[in-house]
Amino acid sequence: MRLEAFSISYDYGIIKAVDDVSVSLGSGEFVGILGPNGSGKTTLLRVLSGALKPQGGTVFLDGEDVHKMGPKAVAKKIAVVPQNGYIPFPFSVFEVVMMGREPHMKRFSGESPEDFRIVSNAMEVAGLTHLAQRSVLDLSYGERQRVIVARALAQEPGILLLDEPTSHLDPGYQIEIMDVFKSLAESRNIGVLAVLHDVNLASQYADRLVVLSKGKKVADGPPEEVITKELLENVYGIKAIIGTHPASGCPQVMLVPGGILGDRR
Ligand code: ADP
Repeated sequence: MRLEAFSISYDYGIIKAVDDVSVSLGSGEFVGILGPNGSGKTTLLRVLSGALKPQGGTVFLDGEDVHKMGPKAVAKKIAVVPQNGYIPFPFSVFEVVMMGREPHMKRFSGESPEDFRIVSNAMEVAGLTHLAQRSVLDLSYGERQRVIVARALAQEPGILLLDEPTSHLDPGYQIEIMDVFKSLAESRNIGVLAVLHDVNLASQYADRLVVLSKGKKVADGPPEEVITKELLENVYGIKAIIGTHPASGCPQVMLVPGGILGDRR
């Protein structure tokens, strides 16, 4: 499966949130989207998922225009884990994960044995099997986040779009959930595109990093090419030290107190 966006522009009235951005994602690829707050990451992700229709450009999913496909047809292929996914009703974990099967179910037919198998597998992958009957309202933030991820997995997507999937998670859960995404890309050939705040985590996990600044794409390449002193200065407005991770060899950023360059706004 291949997601390809050409020359995407999206405005909220006079605010140009995404400006002429092209991006692609192939099967089994893990792409991280980086950029400061307000640089257009969430807007781009919502355009890619078909939720927002751009004023300029086209998004193709296996050659088909996403904005001309129905939502159910898109949901069979693309699953989205939104920022702060919140379920305000006392559904059980199992029920919420089963909702992920909805795009695949025929009208008026109940869950099939195949749906049960896929849901229990999704719960297992997300480490939720022991919580299956618990109400989602009684879970910790990290557990709820994993429920949203399991619901996305139950959709059996070819493409997974994630908006800051590690925000509010402690380091242990961050690694756990990023390992899940990485193994989905590697073992199930899913294309994973994740908006990430943590440059170091992105560097460790992503095959390729796309960087946005003020709505424009300013870099697209492997972490060792993208994470440079110049990029951190120009895009984030910070002076930082870049080292190499002793185990993985990928670039790692060390922040320097007081290292803010001029006015960042
Ligand atoms: P990021 O995810 O990088 O923080 P966003 O895509 O959320 O960036 O926002 C990009 C720009 O669009 C920002 O200037 C933001 O204020 C603006 N924006 C985002 N959502 C809306 C909205 N619903 N209405 C108006 N402006 C918005």
